[in-house]
Amino acid sequence: MSGSTDKYDVAIVGAGILGLSHAYQASKRGLRVVVLERHAFAQGASIRNFGMVWPIGQPAGRLFELALRSRGIWLEVCRAADIWHDPCGSVHLVTREDEMRVLEEFVEFGRPRGYQVELWDKAEACRRSPVARADAVIGGLWSASEVGVDSPRAISGIAGWLAREHKVEFRFSTPVLAIESPRVMIPGGEVHAPRAIVATGSDFEQLYPEVYAKAGVQRCKLQMMSLASPAPGWKLGPMIASGLTIRHYPNFSPCRSLSALEARIQREQPELNDLGIHVMMSQHMSGELIIGDSHQYDGAISPFDSARIDELILAELKRFITLPAWNITRRWSGVYSKLPGSTLLCEDVAPGVRVVNATAGKGMTMGFGLADLMWEDWDGFKL
Ligand SMILES: Cc1cc2nc3c(=O)[nH]c(=O)nc-3n(C[C@H](O)[C@H](O)[C@H](O)COP(=O)(O)OP(=O)(O)OC[C@H]3O[C@@H](n4cnc5c(N)ncnc54)[C@H](O)[C@@H]3O)c2cc1C
Repeated sequence: MSGSTDKYDVAIVGAGILGLSHAYQASKRGLRVVVLERHAFAQGASIRNFGMVWPIGQPAGRLFELALRSRGIWLEVCRAADIWHDPCGSVHLVTREDEMRVLEEFVEFGRPRGYQVELWDKAEACRRSPVARADAVIGGLWSASEVGVDSPRAISGIAGWLAREHKVEFRFSTPVLAIESPRVMIPGGEVHAPRAIVATGSDFEQLYPEVYAKAGVQRCKLQMMSLASPAPGWKLGPMIASGLTIRHYPNFSPCRSLSALEARIQREQPELNDLGIHVMMSQHMSGELIIGDSHQYDGAISPFDSARIDELILAELKRFITLPAWNITRRWSGVYSKLPGSTLLCEDVAPGVRVVNATAGKGMTMGFGLADLMWEDWDGFKL
């Protein structure tokens, strides 16, 4: 392979949300971009998730603001590319007094810091969230900022739009074997680009494995399922999180009452902690409901999915959610990479080569914002 068609300004490895976010920013700046994806279509974490653009989960301050910026870019891209999305907001539905106390505290803490949140009592929660079980739910935290996307459709839709409207070139079924900047090696040839961005998700083996090991990046496996839409045209309303979710996202960390809730869960349901289970529900374009999840790290990750985990996720959801039917249509797992205590691994690993990775459970929420911020000041980027 040679010739002018193989010369680009930027080569991006991986067509997940991080690869696409960078392709968007680079192409907006008039650069010639190629995205190299080893599979026939992106099939990593970016298509296996809930499709929750979830600013409320981010801690107050810079990261929450970046999540809102990212949300704004999602809306801009979805509108421009005619991609289905639903700015439906979210509700944490709770069933215990200790959970309600954390929500009350969070509303007081969060509102002055820009979170558009509201506390719902039982009646309001059951009225506004059609799935809330009246015999279990005692209230909820409404948040206006969350947007649902249909991840597999959104990821392929964005790639198609970038190719059509922004002249980004996509080469699928093209694994990158090595980078010797500006040469990017692919089977049977190479492309040339003075800048390469490595966004390979949970694949740490192929490119720069030593970087992930040195930084202490972990893998995390999550189990997921989908349920058939209960009826044609049936709407979930706001996306659902649970009392268990409160212990999962750092936005609730400033709440003093959180520790009592965590202690109670450990006392009453240690298995949920061992398996990292909290439950959430979103709805995709077809009406199907996406549910999950669990969290198992590194050595605890099995290649096989666990029936027990699925059972616990369903039992937890059924405790506070009512549906006309629970028909499981698909089960799958996904793996994301995580750098404990950090939102992103961003490292210049060789002249002209930057690794961007480890967005953990928030890559769909933060990806567009992170890339936007990075391209504003490539050399000075700091989070
Ligand atoms: C089950 C699950 C649920 C989640 N839910 C949410 C959610 O609702 N909201 C949210 O904000 N975040 C969520 N996340 C997190 C989010 O999905 C990830 O943070 C994000 O998708 C990571 O994107 P990425 O582009 O880094 O990786 P990926 O999406 O994994 O993309 C990496 C791509 O690189 C390709 N690749 C790897 N090596 C090579 C190579 N050598 N050559 C060419 N291509 C290569 C892979 O094939 C892959 O397509 C969830 C994650 C999981 C697993």
